[in-house]
Amino acid sequence: MGLFRSEVSSMSVPSEDPARRLNLCPICLAEPAETNVAVMWPDGDTVIENWHTPECPSYLELEWDLMVNAEKVQAR
Ligand SMILES: [Zn+2]
Repeated sequence: MGLFRSEVSSMSVPSEDPARRLNLCPICLAEPAETNVAVMWPDGDTVIENWHTPECPSYLELEWDLMVNAEKVQAR
């Protein structure tokens, strides 16, 4: 399974969610918040959450990579 992006609409976390591990971005140091964006990917039984501000260069770079990959897939 590849990377996927999720918009967070609520701070409440359902109890049936898989375990989550928060990764602080060293560039923007974003914390979980409605105004920030999370990049998540599964790691075994855990879901890694990497939070960024929408302007974070690291996040923009990642989003760009995802877009490029999506275009490559579509081009096949
Ligand atoms: Zn960041």
